[in-house]
Amino acid sequence: MNRDRLILGIDLGGTKSAATLQTSGGELRYRVATSTPAQDGSDAVVATLISLARNALQAANDLGTVSGCGISVGAPADAANGVVYPAPNLPGWSPIGTPLARIVADALNLPTCLENDADATALAEWRFGAGRGAETMAFLTQGTGIGSGLVLNGRLHRGAFGAGGEIGHICVDTSDEARVCSCGLCGCLEAYASGPSVVRIAAENGYRGEQSGAAVAEAARGGDAAALAAFALAADKLGRGLAVLVMLLNPERIVLGTLAIHAGDLLLTGTESSLRRHAWKRLTEDLTVVPAQLGDRAQDLAALCAYLSRADESNGTMSQ
Ligand SMILES: [Zn+2]
Repeated sequence: MNRDRLILGIDLGGTKSAATLQTSGGELRYRVATSTPAQDGSDAVVATLISLARNALQAANDLGTVSGCGISVGAPADAANGVVYPAPNLPGWSPIGTPLARIVADALNLPTCLENDADATALAEWRFGAGRGAETMAFLTQGTGIGSGLVLNGRLHRGAFGAGGEIGHICVDTSDEARVCSCGLCGCLEAYASGPSVVRIAAENGYRGEQSGAAVAEAARGGDAAALAAFALAADKLGRGLAVLVMLLNPERIVLGTLAIHAGDLLLTGTESSLRRHAWKRLTEDLTVVPAQLGDRAQDLAALCAYLSRADESNGTMSQ
């Protein structure tokens, strides 16, 4: 019997973590998930990940041969060195970085690669989802913050210091009234167009309903002026941020996740119109702005792509 070549994927999130076995074509063969003991610090989280991974490797005995491990982490990361830095939803990690890829590689005896989850999801959308066929693609996801990743000429752009393409922190308001961003800068796109920012701005406008993105979207659909104005501002700023990106990189496709999927009806028309007002026509004529496609498979495929993209880059000659 032919044994499948499988990749072990580990998705580390602030609330849930999972281990998967997938083929390089993205077919899911095994999945196990549990809550992340985030409040117990890095040792507890790492032990949980390794335990999930061992369950998956046990299952792999009947399924195929595991050739490597990809980790997608919901935290800042230095992918080249496989190091994870502290994040608000993963407290207690070492500020000098935790060499998670090496720890997992040593524990499992598998070549292991790691990416920040926004970069890994960008790769997943590019390889399997809304970015397929595009040589140059930008991905943004407007969740709690704005995560982003750039695929340029078919490769993830990591930048000199591992933070290439932080589109959420492009300045879209240089006025004295610019909003303060969670990163400490003023006027960042994230301060206007992340889920919590839209909720906060709606409340400042006089919205009095439930404090969630979904509830503000529902209110906007029902004609609530404060909620509508918050989405209009988010769309305007998002279009301005994307225009900077377009003028700089001339992508052929922009893929938008989370808020654009749940509230695309309130966001996308205004975003496109703002984008086209702030960038050259020649660069926006054939540009497509589309919602992400992978849905609840995005995280598993992101972990898979964290491995596949590195394996491609190094032609499978990675050291353990
Ligand atoms: Zn910022």
